[in-house]
Amino acid sequence: MATTPSSAVGTNPAITGLESTFAEQLSALAVPWQGADAPDPRLLVVNEPLAISLGLDVDVLRSVDGVEVLSGASAPVGATPVAMAYAGHQFGGYTPLLGDGRALLVGELVGDNGERVDLHLKGSGPTPFSRGGDGFAAVGPMLREYLVSEAMHALGIPTTRALSVVATGRDIRRTGAEPGAVLARVAASHLRVGTFEFAVRQGEVLQTLADYAIARHYPALTELPTEKRYLAFFDAVVEAQAALVAQWMLTGFVHGVMNTDNTTISGQTIDYGPCAFLDSFDPAAVFSSIDQGARYAFGNQPAVLKWNLARLAETLLTLIDSTPDDAIAAVTTVLDSFDERFQRHYAAGMSAKLGVGGEKIDPALIDDLLALMTTHSADWTGTFRALAGELRGESTALDVLIPREQLGSWLTRWRSELARYDRDDAADAMDAVNPLYIPRNHQLDAALKAATNGDLAPFEKLLEIVTHPFDRRDDWADYATPAPPVFSESFQTFCGT
Ligand code: AMP
Ligand code: MG
Repeated sequence: MATTPSSAVGTNPAITGLESTFAEQLSALAVPWQGADAPDPRLLVVNEPLAISLGLDVDVLRSVDGVEVLSGASAPVGATPVAMAYAGHQFGGYTPLLGDGRALLVGELVGDNGERVDLHLKGSGPTPFSRGGDGFAAVGPMLREYLVSEAMHALGIPTTRALSVVATGRDIRRTGAEPGAVLARVAASHLRVGTFEFAVRQGEVLQTLADYAIARHYPALTELPTEKRYLAFFDAVVEAQAALVAQWMLTGFVHGVMNTDNTTISGQTIDYGPCAFLDSFDPAAVFSSIDQGARYAFGNQPAVLKWNLARLAETLLTLIDSTPDDAIAAVTTVLDSFDERFQRHYAAGMSAKLGVGGEKIDPALIDDLLALMTTHSADWTGTFRALAGELRGESTALDVLIPREQLGSWLTRWRSELARYDRDDAADAMDAVNPLYIPRNHQLDAALKAATNGDLAPFEKLLEIVTHPFDRRDDWADYATPAPPVFSESFQTFCGT
């Protein structure tokens, strides 16, 4: 197995023009490495629009050379793939060295919008950071990340994207034997809170890392003098992450493993492991088999994010002020603004979901709806579409979710709020922001099982649907309804597989 250190520059011509600014400027955080051979590589899915936007030739990606690059078995011409070092707090406990145990940063591309993105492989074989793991990934979880990240993108939520999944032809051992796969992922960067937690213990590289992150994600701040720059950087990350977690809460998304190594500096969602979308609204919902303490329950996500940002703050103190107490006071003020920022994004989003868009909505209207939805285990996604239906005089869908005798007075208050702001077009405005189709756990589960057994058709169909989340089609009706209760009661997703 060609899983070896490599300082050799790649020669595969399928992808050209890759740059390596991270590996060059932050070599202290990068180990040049090569992916494992794939015994029998087969391209399962490739994201044509994304490839085109990155200036990649889709026919070439489908060729033998292309599939070899996407499997990690060979490196693109001029590229020096690296495994990235990072640390992280996992479920609250600190691990000083995690790093890419089954992944490689292949290089960077500048897309047609001028933005630099990482091309990264997940499941590409063991690295010096594998810590006893096998370095591989299975078809099911890689297709899961592909589909959920593309659904998130279609929903307008900042996220890493998926470029391809290649089945490697290697069986890997999980609960039983599973077919192995490599996901090619595209991200604004792979800088994480955990990258800073690692760098702060390495000395000088911390400031280089912070300047690199600023130049890449918050370039306006490069103009600031150093005594202001790093606090402004922290502020910008807090703002990006507060906006992101608000979007998760508005969409019913449960990330499942919000460790600090899975919290980005860019504000994109990253690492779709044991993630899931709510059907029945329940703030306590946990889907992950490894989250025994319910740390990453749906309703805990904003608080956990703030906790992760506190870990980032700790790494920046020496850059922010040479007097420790002053540095702590400065980051604390910024961190304290998290709750207000999250609430502002969340309230604006709920206002749009309820058709009141752009106006400050009565907070009690939100709280009372959430309380009713909790009591009646109402389907999160379905309720907002049913409320728009109610405005059009179609009440059946709503009556199934929450009994009218319970909801009646809330509906009256909501309608008067709409009247107050003259929202005659509320139903259409609501349908433009409330998805009809999300990756429903039972549908995704069935599609991944079929794909693992060699039948990609259900996956392809589901992918088509969830990447058009607002486009109603009669033949997609089954995809807009929640799972049967017998499925939901026992559903779990598994991490690290
Ligand atoms: P994740 O939960 O996917 O964010 O991964 C957390 C850490 O575990 C990262 O350092 C991963 O590289 C590592 N890891 C996860 N799965 C494997 C595996 N099969 N082999 C080696 N390392 C892994
Ligand atoms: Mg991770």
